[in-house]
Amino acid sequence: SYRKGGYHAVRVGDTFAGGRYIAQRKLGWGQFSTVWLAYDTQTSKYVALKIQKSAPEFAQSAIHEIEILSAITEGDPECKKCLIRLVDHFKHTGPNGQHLCMVLEFLGDSILQLIKYSRYKGLPLRIVREICKCILIGLDYLHRELGIIHTDLKPENILLLSTINPSKDPFRSKMEPILSKPEGGLNGGGPVLNAIEKKLKQRARQAVARISARRMAGGQPAPKPARSLDGIDFRCKVVDFGNACWGSSPLAEEIQTRQYRAPEVILQSGYTYSVDMWSFACTAFELATGEMMFAPKIGQGFSEDEDHLALMMEILGKMPRKISVGGLRSKEYFDRYGDLKRIRRLKSWPLSRLLVEKFKFSANDAREFAEFLTPILDFAPEKRPTAEQCLQHPWLNKASESGVEKVDGEMSKLQIKAGK
Ligand code: ATP
Ligand code: MG
Ligand code: MG
Repeated sequence: SYRKGGYHAVRVGDTFAGGRYIAQRKLGWGQFSTVWLAYDTQTSKYVALKIQKSAPEFAQSAIHEIEILSAITEGDPECKKCLIRLVDHFKHTGPNGQHLCMVLEFLGDSILQLIKYSRYKGLPLRIVREICKCILIGLDYLHRELGIIHTDLKPENILLLSTINPSKDPFRSKMEPILSKPEGGLNGGGPVLNAIEKKLKQRARQAVARISARRMAGGQPAPKPARSLDGIDFRCKVVDFGNACWGSSPLAEEIQTRQYRAPEVILQSGYTYSVDMWSFACTAFELATGEMMFAPKIGQGFSEDEDHLALMMEILGKMPRKISVGGLRSKEYFDRYGDLKRIRRLKSWPLSRLLVEKFKFSANDAREFAEFLTPILDFAPEKRPTAEQCLQHPWLNKASESGVEKVDGEMSKLQIKAGK
């Protein structure tokens, strides 16, 4: 893809925007761009430099992404809303053409990586709650104040705040940015950045060991090891607005990454902000259990879509007939009674039972977490609570994981009533 219309090749030490930004190391890449850690000589901060492929269709999509990111950044001058910020944007001409470049605040690992560090066993509920709060603050602002639907919420698109911030980090003295091209070709990252990353990964691994120890001890908290995740602030931000759209004009028919896709998108019954809430619930489940909530597969005689609908109904119960037959594509999957045409036998495995039986949650943790997630996974999009309503839910505001058990009546009184 490093050809005309494609990616721009960058070397460590390359400068951009008239010398303002200096490339440090590659952070990642996607279908549209490569992303580099760069040093901003004007603010003395690290930034993420996203360099778009140059062909017109990529430029067009960058213009859209810049428009959305500008709205996000301008509407939140106090930087409180847990969404990635756009610092600057400019054009850069190279051998493969003219590339639109976005300068974004520099963030750390994605929460997908956090799940990987847990060896796919899931994170402590205390941390899941912290991350959920951040995502919901971001979604509430995005939906209610800006009128934007993200359409691709998933663990990969939630990034932790980077602790490798030169102005705040204790390792600051060691953080010498590469201010010019290195002599002997420094490959990829600076050794100091790598060392810090290693340290963070080590801390994450220790936390994971603690989680599994606790799980093996039958849900009892294990004694704290010397170093834990306790010092790490689990704040995070929602990123990747390349597919976001204005709520007033949803464009694409097929949105969202498969496993996080809402039923109304599969059935093509029209969608709105609440598709992000569905993906949010799938993301929260994955954080807590380490496994995707729905991982559909093509089978003999049925499609991936049909398996997906079957998996949903196994956990969430039968889809109301009005909804199952109400989409443009309903007839492909459902008969007129609202039963799947090709997958006839469904085994029922309700969420709280699944959490206990498969993921070894305590009965109480399972019940409370299921009470939080189930209303968000309502098949009727208009009945799902909004991000604002979710933020009020008692599960998010519990004092601590091993905290005092709540009386049943008290819990249900405080519960979010769907549709209100
Ligand atoms: P996609 O195909 O996912 O749409 P894309 O070309 O739009 O890809 P992004 O997903 O925005 O690119 O970024 C690619 C990768 O770069 C991310 O997965 C992440 O690893 C890294 N990255 C992006 N933005 C940042 C950031 N602000 N801070 C740190 N790393 C980032
Ligand atoms: Mg991406
Ligand atoms: Mg993108």
